[in-house]
Amino acid sequence: VVALFLGYRMMRGKQKHSLWAQDQMETGNTAVDLDHLKLLELIGRGRYGTVFRGSLNERCVAVKLFTSANRQNFANERSIYRLPLLKQHDNIARFLATDERTAADGRAEFLILMEYYPHGCLSSYLSVHTVDWSTCCRLTHGVTRGLAFLHSELSRAGQCKPGVAHRDVSSRNVLLRSDLSCVLADFGLSMTLTGSQPPRPGDDDTMAISEVGTVRYMAPEVLGGALDLRDCAAALKQVDVYALGLLYWESFRRCSHLYTGEAVPEYQLAFQAELGHNPSFEEMQILVNRNKSRPRIPEAWRLLSPALRSLTETMEDCWDQDAEARLTAQCAEERLCELTLLHNHRIDPPPVGPASSQDLGVV
Ligand code: ADP
Ligand code: MG
Ligand code: MG
Repeated sequence: VVALFLGYRMMRGKQKHSLWAQDQMETGNTAVDLDHLKLLELIGRGRYGTVFRGSLNERCVAVKLFTSANRQNFANERSIYRLPLLKQHDNIARFLATDERTAADGRAEFLILMEYYPHGCLSSYLSVHTVDWSTCCRLTHGVTRGLAFLHSELSRAGQCKPGVAHRDVSSRNVLLRSDLSCVLADFGLSMTLTGSQPPRPGDDDTMAISEVGTVRYMAPEVLGGALDLRDCAAALKQVDVYALGLLYWESFRRCSHLYTGEAVPEYQLAFQAELGHNPSFEEMQILVNRNKSRPRIPEAWRLLSPALRSLTETMEDCWDQDAEARLTAQCAEERLCELTLLHNHRIDPPPVGPASSQDLGVV
């Protein structure tokens, strides 16, 4: 299917299209000729888009392709990427251009061009690599920094960025550069949260606030249909922070420094041990909302060191059942900064128990 699809794209050759002037790539002052865009390899498939590695005038790019059925998701993601100041942040995926054209079958199709992230998403990276403590801190700190920036309302040099809720925070929506720094991506469900106005999707089309992200990462209040809409902006940020806590757990579970003397366990998505690969909404509702269950934190982590105690507390403060008790993304960012600084400290001996001395002294 992919080969056929690529063939079809190439056959379409120099079909006319419109390039959005606002979205010109920063390769010069002139509009980029997207007729020279080549799609080379399928690299990702999400719920809304199909992502290809491509090349544009010898430059490697990623192309997220939306069918006409997903036009709204495309328009929303585009309008978020176009918000002031977003382009300048190091932990937000780098947006280059959009394109909108008519395919051979007469239907519209939509493209978002972005920087290509060679390691793909955090989830696939962690499924084949373990990470050391400082790398893990850097990864999680990067995502948190991106989210804290997204959430904040800013004005700089005459430009105003509204607060934005991501609404689909997951380890598949974080991408890694080759130096393992990371960015938050996939703004298809994001919403601006401006001042006293009700939150709305970046696009003018209405998209229900209840239309939400990936079921596995849904906060208990979303699963229970009890999202507090009186202060919608705060509520939506709290939902993002809940998912961030799960992402910390997935990452640190693969941290080689936390398993001295035993093998690092295989990568698992949050709640994979409990509900496997395709949890239903109802299963998640029972597990997370009714039973208040969370991913299991290895007991050893709590005993080992101030750094690990701080780490487990940070996870738990992010995924608290009580949404209002959760950390803000800004606060989580500060905690992760401290955690990174603690990394040279040696582990305190555990107060009791049979742990041997060779299990100590790592983080
Ligand atoms: P969806 O909205 O359909 O979930 P995403 O934007 O999340 O689409 O992209 C789907 C997947 O494609 C991601 O999880 C990631 O693995 C891969 N991907 C997306 N953008 C890039 C990129 N710029 N570089 C490398 N891989 C990417
Ligand atoms: Mg996605
Ligand atoms: Mg998406």
